[in-house]
Amino acid sequence: VDPLDPLRAILPEGAVSTHPGEVAARTRDWWALAMLREARGEILDRPVAVVFPQTTEEVSSVLVWAQETGTPVVPRGGGSGVSGGAQAHRRSVVLDLSEMRDVLAIDTESQAVEVQAGIRGDRLEAALEERGLTLGHYPQSLALSSVGGWIASGSAGQASAGHGVIEDLVLGLAAVLADGRIVRLRAVPRSAAGPDLRRLFVGSEGTLGVITEATLSASRPPGAVRWVAAAPAGFVEGIAVVREAMQQELRPLVVRLYDGADAALTFGEIGHAGGPVLVAGFAEPRDADASEARRLAASMGAGQRSEEYGMHWWGHRFDAVDVYRRIMGRDRSLGSGVVVDTMEVAALWGRLPELHAAVGAALRSQAEAVGCHLSHPYRSGASLFFTFLVRGADDRAAGDAYLRCWQRAARACHGAGGTVTHHHGVGLLKAPFMEDELGRPGLEALRAVKSALDPAGILNPGKLVRGGG
Ligand SMILES: Cc1cc2nc3c(=O)[nH]c(=O)nc-3n(C[C@H](O)[C@H](O)[C@H](O)COP(=O)(O)OP(=O)(O)OC[C@H]3O[C@@H](n4cnc5c(N)ncnc54)[C@H](O)[C@@H]3O)c2cc1C
Repeated sequence: VDPLDPLRAILPEGAVSTHPGEVAARTRDWWALAMLREARGEILDRPVAVVFPQTTEEVSSVLVWAQETGTPVVPRGGGSGVSGGAQAHRRSVVLDLSEMRDVLAIDTESQAVEVQAGIRGDRLEAALEERGLTLGHYPQSLALSSVGGWIASGSAGQASAGHGVIEDLVLGLAAVLADGRIVRLRAVPRSAAGPDLRRLFVGSEGTLGVITEATLSASRPPGAVRWVAAAPAGFVEGIAVVREAMQQELRPLVVRLYDGADAALTFGEIGHAGGPVLVAGFAEPRDADASEARRLAASMGAGQRSEEYGMHWWGHRFDAVDVYRRIMGRDRSLGSGVVVDTMEVAALWGRLPELHAAVGAALRSQAEAVGCHLSHPYRSGASLFFTFLVRGADDRAAGDAYLRCWQRAARACHGAGGTVTHHHGVGLLKAPFMEDELGRPGLEALRAVKSALDPAGILNPGKLVRGGG
């Protein structure tokens, strides 16, 4: 007997697929190391099947079956994660939520949208646009990623300065626990009813439950954007300008501060002659803040740059997807023995220069072409996004060097008081660093939550915390 038959029996026809192409396409996400392994001809672990549920109740049935049969389940939204969170296991089924893509309701009075969690960002934006709204959550991977994936991996969009990050937008959600029970957390603007269970699912990476529905806070679309561009003397001087702007409560929609290396890549096309670049966009009705920001940057010693920098950035804000695909995908545009990745860390302003120096030095000791930008500022701190290229004599050597590089950089990050992930989650890549991140008691607390909610350890085993379950 086929062990999948009982599952087929409880789901609509076609919901369980063992089609080799469909299965192979869901072995990995966009984690650089998995892409490298695939490129060098390794066959990655294949799941036994892909399941396409259409409702929360169907997800519940799948998990009941998985619990009874001891089958690991890997939830999958768009599969655009970069930390290996959606990587399949050999004996697993992948629970692909892409058919759960309906907009269930738009409440224009409350500016709230209720969706099935598998909906992708571009489809959601199109539905909101028809009603004169936007979510304002624009990760570079907007068209590749889903609402459930955003919540499960703690995502941040490029306009986080103006619209907030994903947890600022989640009003309510439904999640299915490992034993099939459905938790429904009603949509409210805030609640003091104990520790916020909505937040428990933010960053849970499919290990605590499957998010099937969510209600999110939408915004009125920003009006015309006025750009300010400046040339701080150095990256650290630029950090001070951004900090001051945030603490003076200027309200940018977008802020990007690039070091010289990253600026050369981002603005080379418009003839950037070198040095760091700061761009900030202010949307109507907050565009008057643009003049304030310009004055502030000048008073702190930054030279002016043309607004074209801001407009150029905006026009190319989704380009990273193609660039990354060309380098790490089939084309391998930089040749073999090369792996390119990003590391997004964060710290309080008071630790940020040290974090920048420490992580930068650790990466440079193992990698080439290390660039950095600051792209998610808050009142008390910000995130730094490093890009780097690791080269080895061949793909195997590059993979080993890549893991060494991450280990060094993670240690440097924690030594400087930072967090090793601001918005890409943990997955397989950063699970080894979780004890340094949370401390032993913190990690044990997280493990205790995991084993209370998923005692059989069927939900995305090995991700987020190693040995959990
Ligand atoms: C080129 C590129 C650019 C990117 N830019 C950004 C960016 O600007 N900002 C940003 O935040 N991220 C960015 N990312 C990373 C990625 O897009 C995000 O992590 C995104 O949130 C993942 O969503 P997804 O639907 O693709 O999730 P997946 O990759 O499918 O899954 C991510 C994790 O969440 C779990 N999961 C997925 N759906 C559910 C669910 N419904 N319930 C429970 N668990 C679930 C998975 O098991 C996995 O652990 C980028 C990625 C690429 C490749």
